[in-house]
Amino acid sequence: MIIAEIKLWPGGNSHREKYLGHVYIINDGTGDDTFGNYDVRREVLGNPSMTRLCRIEKFNRALGSDRLLALAFSILNPLPTPDIGVELKCEVCALNKPWAIFNRTTGTAICKDCRECGGAPGFREL
Ligand SMILES: [Zn+2]
Repeated sequence: MIIAEIKLWPGGNSHREKYLGHVYIINDGTGDDTFGNYDVRREVLGNPSMTRLCRIEKFNRALGSDRLLALAFSILNPLPTPDIGVELKCEVCALNKPWAIFNRTTGTAICKDCRECGGAPGFREL
């Protein structure tokens, strides 16, 4: 399990530290030596309404833990056009490309090309 603890030090002052949350990346053990599958949990201790879950499947372990963290953060807080060098299999064209929309519930992704050509009516960010 990888744990990221997020804290704010206003003006760099540790005495004014504010706790912002944790992100847990939990390897579920169903992957192999090359690819890992992970349950991701973002929570703010004491505030269950802030908890968010997502899943990362077939992550290429060679990309390393920084990329895994970057992917987890970008799924939890999607940007309009993520460009962090991680490719996922597009649900529409079935090619591995940088993804534009990621569905947290199904764990599927759609690439920018398919999103822009409307290749997936009904698909939406969750
Ligand atoms: Zn596509």
